[in-house]
Amino acid sequence: MYATARRHVLSGIMADIRNVAILGSTGSIGCSTLDVVRAIGDKLSIAVLSAHRRLAELCAQAVEHRPRWVVATDRHAGSQFDWSRLPSGTSVRTGYDELCELVGSADIDIVVAAIVGSAGLTGTWAAVAAGKTVALANKEALVVAGPLVMDLAKRRGATILPVDSEHCAVFQCLQAGRREDAARVILTASGGPFRDWTTEQLRDVTVEQALAHPTWSMGPKITVDSATMMNKAFEIVEARWLFDLDPAQIEVVVHPQSIVHSLVEFVDGSVIAQLGPPDMRLPIQFALTYPDRRPGPAAKLDLTEALQLEFVPADRERFPALALGHEVARAGGTTGAVLNAANEAAVAMFLDRRLRFTEIVPACRAILDNHDFDPNPTLDGLLRLDAWARQEVSRWACT
Ligand code: NAD
Ligand code: MG
Repeated sequence: MYATARRHVLSGIMADIRNVAILGSTGSIGCSTLDVVRAIGDKLSIAVLSAHRRLAELCAQAVEHRPRWVVATDRHAGSQFDWSRLPSGTSVRTGYDELCELVGSADIDIVVAAIVGSAGLTGTWAAVAAGKTVALANKEALVVAGPLVMDLAKRRGATILPVDSEHCAVFQCLQAGRREDAARVILTASGGPFRDWTTEQLRDVTVEQALAHPTWSMGPKITVDSATMMNKAFEIVEARWLFDLDPAQIEVVVHPQSIVHSLVEFVDGSVIAQLGPPDMRLPIQFALTYPDRRPGPAAKLDLTEALQLEFVPADRERFPALALGHEVARAGGTTGAVLNAANEAAVAMFLDRRLRFTEIVPACRAILDNHDFDPNPTLDGLLRLDAWARQEVSRWACT
C-alpha cells in the first residue's frame, strides 16, 4: 500500500507538484478536494476534472483551476453544453472511455475517486489498473468488487489511500503497531438523524428529515445511507477488503459527536484513536499529501471548550442494515454488488418518494437473499448482477 506514494517523496518533503485527477469534482467530496488544492496549491495541480451533468459548475471549476482536461461522463449532456467559457488550455472529453484513458495517462499522479455509487467503479478500476495512487472516496467500488480491486492494485502496484474518514482513521491508527498485532478495528458511526427514533417513528420518515444529517454535510445518497446505517454496513465491507481483516475483527460503535473517527485495538489491549472535527478536508488532504503532513484548511479541534465524547452500542434491531454489512463482508462473492445496487436503486426511489424509508433495507435484504450467489465472480458478472438488482427494486415501488 505504501510503495507508490513513497516514489513522490524526497527526504520526507513532497518532492514535486502532484498532478491530480478528480473524478466527480462537482460533488461534496470533489468540492472539498478543490478546497484543499486551493489551500496547498503549491504542491498540487489539477489535471483532470469530471462531472456527470452539472456542467456549468464543472466549467466554473475549470476557469478557476485550469485543468488540461474536463470530462462530462454523460455524453449527451456533454454534447449539448456550451463550452465556450472554458480556458484556452482546457480540452473537453466525454464519456467513461475517455475518462478512463485520461486517468491512465502518464502525467497523472493521483486520482481522487469521488463519483458516487457503482458508476464510480469504471474510473476507479482504470486508475488502479494504471498503477496510480488512488484517493478512494468511492467506497461502493470496494463494496461491489473489493477482492478484484485489491488484487488488481497488488498486481499493478497501485496505492489505495482511503478518503472515508473512518478508514483514514484506521489507516493512521494501524501505524501505531505491527499489522499482525492489531486485534480489532472499531468503526465509529454518528448514528444519523434517527439515532434515538423508535421503530414506529421511523415509519414516517420524510425525505427532508433523512437529508438533515446532524454532523456531516454530504451528497444526498450517502446522507440517506447514513440515516439507514447502510453507510456503516458498506464501511464494514470497505474495511474488510482495504485492510484484509477478518469480518469478526470489525466492530461498530455509535459516537454521536463524530470527533473520534475510528479506533484500533492492539493485542495488548491498547486502543489507538484518531480525532478531529467532522471535516472531510482532513482525510482528503491526508491522502493527497501522504506520507507528508502539512497545515491545511480543515477545522481544528478546540479543547479549550468543554467537549463530551459519547460511545453507545449500535442498535441492530432498529438498524438492520448493520447485519447486512457483516454478512456481505463474510460471504464476499456477488453479495456486495447485489447489496450495493439494490440500495442505490432503493435510495433513488425513496428520494423520488416512491418507497418508504423503512422499506429500503428490507428491499435490499430480499434481493440479496434471492440472488444467484457466485463466490468467484468476474467484473462483468458483477456488473450484470448490478443491473439485475436495480431492476428487482422497481417491484417495491409504492403504487
Ligand atoms: P455527490 O452526490 O455530492 O457527488 C457525486 C459526484 O459524482 C458529482 O460530481 C457527480 O457529477 C458525479 N456523478 C454522479 N453520478 C454519476 C454517474 N452516474 N457517472 C459519473 N459521475 C457521476 O456525492 P459525494 O457525497 O461527494 O460522495 C462521493 C463518494 O464519496 C461516494 O462514494 C460517497 O460514499 C463517498 N464519501 C463521501 C463522503 C462525504 O462526506 N460526502 C464521505 C465519505 C465517503
Ligand atoms: Mg465514512
